[in-house]
Amino acid sequence: MRQTNENTSVNLKLVMLFDWRKHVYCICSHNLSPEDASAEVNELRRDGLPAFSVDQRSRHLQDDAEECEVCRADVQQCVNPPPALERRRREFRR
Ligand SMILES: [Zn+2]
Repeated sequence: MRQTNENTSVNLKLVMLFDWRKHVYCICSHNLSPEDASAEVNELRRDGLPAFSVDQRSRHLQDDAEECEVCRADVQQCVNPPPALERRRREFRR
């Protein structure tokens, strides 16, 4: 059986909602292929939500993206200044 090396070229994305004005974010999904991530971003944006996809630095082991610490670390890495607050996804809905 062939071993895949987890450390080389992960091509996975997470999807988050990010409100620039309030500087709050929440994680929607993770471990998505680039195609799935852009489909999800498009769908959320059609609903009027501020969705973005972010490159993951590794595959995340946590099942639930909303509880995933690694997602938070990846977001902190790519957003400057790092968003301080987080919200549940439903709080972005109006
Ligand atoms: Zn994650």
